[in-house]
Amino acid sequence: MRDEADVAVVGGGIVGLMTARLLAREGLDVVLLEAGDLGAQASGANAGSIHLQLQYPEFAAYGEDWARAYIPCLRFLEASLSLWEGLAEDLDADLGLKLSGGLVVATTGAQMDRLAAKARIEAEAGLEMHLLGREDLRAMAPYLAPDAIGAAFCPREGKANPLRVTPVLAGAAAAAGVRVMTRTEVTGIDAEATGFILRTGAGPLRAGRIVNAAGAAAGRIGRMLGTRLAIEGFPLQVTVTEPVAPLIPHLVYSAAAKLSLKQLANGGCVIGGGWPAKLRGDTLVTDPSSLTGNMATAARAVPAMAQARAIRSWTAWVNGTADWRPILGPDPNAPGVIHALFPWVGFSAGPMTARVAADLVLGRAPAMPLAGLSLLFD
Ligand SMILES: Cc1cc2nc3c(=O)[nH]c(=O)nc-3n(C[C@H](O)[C@H](O)[C@H](O)COP(=O)(O)OP(=O)(O)OC[C@H]3O[C@@H](n4cnc5c(N)ncnc54)[C@H](O)[C@@H]3O)c2cc1C
Repeated sequence: MRDEADVAVVGGGIVGLMTARLLAREGLDVVLLEAGDLGAQASGANAGSIHLQLQYPEFAAYGEDWARAYIPCLRFLEASLSLWEGLAEDLDADLGLKLSGGLVVATTGAQMDRLAAKARIEAEAGLEMHLLGREDLRAMAPYLAPDAIGAAFCPREGKANPLRVTPVLAGAAAAAGVRVMTRTEVTGIDAEATGFILRTGAGPLRAGRIVNAAGAAAGRIGRMLGTRLAIEGFPLQVTVTEPVAPLIPHLVYSAAAKLSLKQLANGGCVIGGGWPAKLRGDTLVTDPSSLTGNMATAARAVPAMAQARAIRSWTAWVNGTADWRPILGPDPNAPGVIHALFPWVGFSAGPMTARVAADLVLGRAPAMPLAGLSLLFD
């Protein structure tokens, strides 16, 4: 390895790849260090939902105060979504992006009341939301189960294909001049007077600045710097069905149980929504009870799903913080280090997370305000 760079980006997921590309395009010498393969963790293994509205299970569990505190994140997600809209053209590639709207489907009056309360807070954040009654919902989404009595509809939500996005970003980063080192784990960091020495399996790298985009493992990078980052990995699983006839144009959630459901261009339906995987030793494996619970929830919301055979389930660690807010900004103890960590819905938030991280490395005002948003600014 050449042993110097202006910036070392740790992590080759969506955030690391996009940040590295932005910085290289500004003329900085950037090395991206990835412990495994690019996009092989959450960024390539997620469910591909482009989220915007408040997640219903968390709203139900944590309540209105939590939701109000999350408003800066809603604004951030909306701005990230605008970046998503320009990404296919910027990268000259099909990313499978389709924003046909997201529906949280209710089957009880209590759920409808909660969706109305949720929509009021989303309106405070400036989001366009529509509460649909039974007839309007049936007209928009005839594929839903007959017990659906209404829904919250967020027109800007949708999907992108993670299996396409990360390879395209990897190519774009390399084309911009990023020196990408895969299978190169950062095992230690020493601060120097003018920067840092990163210890890696391929030898030491001296870098003036560091971007921590290590996702679920970012807390370990923090510990190398003497900073406690309240972020952890949580094991999740997702399932895809065999291709079925075109049926579901929307991103579908349920107010009855955790669900995200979408149909890919090839007809396969991706079923997730935050169901846990489990650990066998050090290895993540699918949890059969999560699989059956997730499939049953999908079939309750969209009866045709009962006929669609699951062909593959997979697992990955998601980066999570307790209150869902990001850790985004300069390290409080290690000047020159930027943490770029957006939890739980970091695929949706990835483009703006990278934009802000790059702004901070470049010494510019961040594209979005960080006070109130990032846990680092509390
Ligand atoms: C199953 C699942 C489904 C999800 N569904 C959605 C969804 O539908 N929509 C959505 O918006 N979000 C979703 N998410 C969340 C989203 O995928 C993540 O928040 C996002 O991809 C995080 O991106 P990242 O670049 O920060 O981290 P990652 O993609 O996790 O990348 C971090 C990289 O850092 C590397 N790394 C870690 N430690 C080191 C080290 N010491 N040295 C070198 N490299 C290191 C890792 O190998 C990894 O490649 C889901 C997550 C999972 C797991």
